[in-house]
Amino acid sequence: MKKLVIIGAGPGGYEVAIEASKEELEVILIDKNELGGTCLNVGCIPTKTLYKSAEIVKNIKNGEKFGVKSSYELDLPQVIANKDEVVTGLKKGIDFLLNKGNVRFITGEAKFVSDTAVEVNGEVIEGDYFLIATGSVPRMLNIPGADSDIVVTSTEMLDLKEVPKRLTVIGGGVVGVELANIYALFGSEVTIIEFQKHLLSMFDEDISKRIKPALKKQGINIITNAACKEIIGNEVIYDLKGKEQSVVADLVLMSTGRAPYYDNLGLESIGIEFDRNGIIVDEDYKTNKKNIFAVGDCIGGMMLAHTATYQSYKVLDQIVGRDNKTDFDMVPSCVFTFPEIAMIGMTKAQAKEKFEDVEVIKSMYTANGKANAMGEDGFVQLVVVDDKIVGASILGYSASTIIHEIALIIGSEQPLSNYKDVIFAHPTLSEVLAHAIRH
Ligand code: FAD
Repeated sequence: MKKLVIIGAGPGGYEVAIEASKEELEVILIDKNELGGTCLNVGCIPTKTLYKSAEIVKNIKNGEKFGVKSSYELDLPQVIANKDEVVTGLKKGIDFLLNKGNVRFITGEAKFVSDTAVEVNGEVIEGDYFLIATGSVPRMLNIPGADSDIVVTSTEMLDLKEVPKRLTVIGGGVVGVELANIYALFGSEVTIIEFQKHLLSMFDEDISKRIKPALKKQGINIITNAACKEIIGNEVIYDLKGKEQSVVADLVLMSTGRAPYYDNLGLESIGIEFDRNGIIVDEDYKTNKKNIFAVGDCIGGMMLAHTATYQSYKVLDQIVGRDNKTDFDMVPSCVFTFPEIAMIGMTKAQAKEKFEDVEVIKSMYTANGKANAMGEDGFVQLVVVDDKIVGASILGYSASTIIHEIALIIGSEQPLSNYKDVIFAHPTLSEVLAHAIRH
């Protein structure tokens, strides 16, 4: 039986380990930390449990409009305990599936000692195939004071003992805005300092523009086009249009992106190519060694849990000789702010650069009965070329669900007009999409 050795038990490693165990393969999974990687321990899942607590606060705060008056008290230790319980429960589930599949899980740091072997805890493990899924680490801004006691990364934000009175978030990307929104609802006075013109600058311009007022309405102070220079004591110093300004903070969240991680893996010793953007792979996620693959955050690009997982499935399909048609240009990505954000494929600006005839269809939540009943606002935007969706952006409640209805349309490779006779139930938020389809 051929042997597959997987290094890293995040979503790029453990999901495929379980899948591979259903094939004619001996599977070994190695992680120096806990099962689940960044996603389960300090990423997707912890943030989403905190998001749920924040949503409850939001609903209580907005209750009066709906005729429900109530007061509340935030119990942060319980918020964190609930998060830990969810994480532990999911970890047990992964452990169960690995055991069921006879996957050998080893806790320890793996290091390549040859093209066909790694060493972990002093044991040399030979393999036919290797999959590197070693993830990423927070990228810190190299400014004076970045190492001060009040500066934390997203990891520490998930285990705080108390809600900071004044929180400054450096970096208005996905992780920064999600945690800013959560802690604003928990009661912090939040300031986001972003270098770019807009928050979430990688999203469609309409999203980047509209999320700012939505967050401001919740009391978040947003400073864009600003470069952080230094942290002195409790002051975060930044440059805004050539003028030095500052904001006082009790806690500073540094959320200036993540760097691919491949330290101590012994890549140099066996000649695997990498650069600062990550381990270098071809379109099949193969490194320059034909039996060694790499997926997920450690290869850079779209650093998302499901990207890591679907890349790893593509690797497994190659190993077992199965066809795989995954279109990695069509990866949905979601931001869990209030309201939610989701996108897939191209923004309208990207589509207009590539195609001559681009149709942009926008359908508003304000015209939707369910959205009105819920007091929710937003839009669904489809970017269409030759009657095919090439991209979509959503801002609004349930954006992270509706985006998958669009993903299915794209995946079907059918013209958009083929869907105009599909019945959507009333009253639902999905009808915003139905209106866009029937535009
Ligand atoms: P990781 O999950 O980072 O796992 C890598 C594993 O490799 C780690 O467990 C590490 O210990 C192990 N490892 C490293 N080197 C070695 C070695 N030499 N030997 C043994 N083990 C090693 N993505 C989403 O899609 N949705 C979200 O909502 C979302 N929210 C996020 C929120 C936060 C705060 C953060 C930080 C990230 C979030 N992400 C989200 C991103 C997501 O967590 C990552 O994209 C995903 O975890 C990457 O998976 P991976 O398998 O590539 O690496």
